[in-house]
Amino acid sequence: MKRADIVGLDKAHVWHPYTAMEAYIAETDPLVVVRSEGAYLHDADGTRYLDANGSWWVSTLGHRHPRLMRALAEQAAALPHVSLAGITHEPAALLASELAAIAPGSDRPGLPSSERLSRVFYSDNGSTAVEVAIKMAAQYWAQNGQPRRTRFITLSGAFHGETMGATSVGGVPLFREVFGPLLFDVVHVPSPAEEGGWARAFEQVQSTLRAHPEVIAGVILEPVLQGAAGMVMYSPDFVRAVREATSEVDTFLIADEVFTGLGRTGARFAVDLAGVVPDMLCLAKALSGGILPFGATLASERVFSGFLGASNRALYYGHSYCGNPLGAAIAREVLAVYRDEDVMGQVARKAPRVKAAFERMAASIPGLVRPRAVGMVGAVDLGGGGYLARGGWRVYEAARRRGLYLRPMGDTVYIAPALTISDEALEELLSGVEASLQEVAGG
Ligand SMILES: *Cc1c(COP(=O)(O)O)cnc(C)c1O
Repeated sequence: MKRADIVGLDKAHVWHPYTAMEAYIAETDPLVVVRSEGAYLHDADGTRYLDANGSWWVSTLGHRHPRLMRALAEQAAALPHVSLAGITHEPAALLASELAAIAPGSDRPGLPSSERLSRVFYSDNGSTAVEVAIKMAAQYWAQNGQPRRTRFITLSGAFHGETMGATSVGGVPLFREVFGPLLFDVVHVPSPAEEGGWARAFEQVQSTLRAHPEVIAGVILEPVLQGAAGMVMYSPDFVRAVREATSEVDTFLIADEVFTGLGRTGARFAVDLAGVVPDMLCLAKALSGGILPFGATLASERVFSGFLGASNRALYYGHSYCGNPLGAAIAREVLAVYRDEDVMGQVARKAPRVKAAFERMAASIPGLVRPRAVGMVGAVDLGGGGYLARGGWRVYEAARRRGLYLRPMGDTVYIAPALTISDEALEELLSGVEASLQEVAGG
């Protein structure tokens, strides 16, 4: 099919996510991707683009990793799907045990078994992984003696996904305002990255918990890195302090590691940077290998125990594709590739280059502010507003001419590439971002 015909059909029928469709149809010349490999996307017109965000943060091992493709093909030949209703299968069982074996706290012999993240509930994306955690927390309290515990504390700027529960605990005004009347009530506290720092944000969490422990079902947060807020970063000290405060009043800490999980921040899990074990931990993006939608919610043995007993105490929740064998087989192979290719060691080696590059850009290009980096995420903001209000999009265009696919968030320009990106491709990415920013902001 001709490239132009694909675009024609697309503009006639496809409603794109997070896209102002009128402007898109009138102005956008989309990439038409026919093939991907490693760090690159190949357009039907023959152009090769370096994927600066791992296709919305999912492909941490690069596109079409040969081992993941093999795991997919082998599993597809035997069992592409079966429900988990009175049925189990090797990929689901093994993956759950492997996740439990690497979960935060798994390396602490002294951790009580009730606090271990030894139970895995499968779903099919990040939003549902969060939705499950919300329902687990609410139902746990409802049937274990604290029925008034229905409210969640959440951070401003938080992003936890798209379903109504996940939107309710989200804190990006643009994404939630229109649904306001439909969302459940939460307690928003300032992001620890805002003015006053984490200590001020923590003070509000702690005072809310101490004042109303009987109504708080839990605190949910994206540890250390709020992705969709615009790559907002904060100290692991905040996560540690919140864990202590939730423990003090015996309520839950839910770690949404859909973005940060599996190495993005330089630790296997971002909560590991704080030495914290949450009560529930949500995973999706990296776990899916960038191949098929897949999600998992890890829960502590204590949370799990709260659903034992009479059948009306069960978690009546499930999706058609819970624990999908293809997704589970790929996720197992993802974990194996992390081990065999020393992905965490690779991140430790490459992360300082990302940080140094963004600091250098902010120092040398006028108008750039707030350079920041954690692990393999680097970001900088185009400050000043005014003619730069659409600066992010101008950087997108300048980068595209250089063979880079960037997707700025407003005026935040960031990279979140494959963790296994080669040194040469990383150099190409960083110098391309710098040249694009220079073109847009430096002139
Ligand atoms: C992307 C994201 C989600 C939602 O995941 P989907 O797979 O897009 O539903 C939830 N939480 C965080 C922190 C995310 O970055």
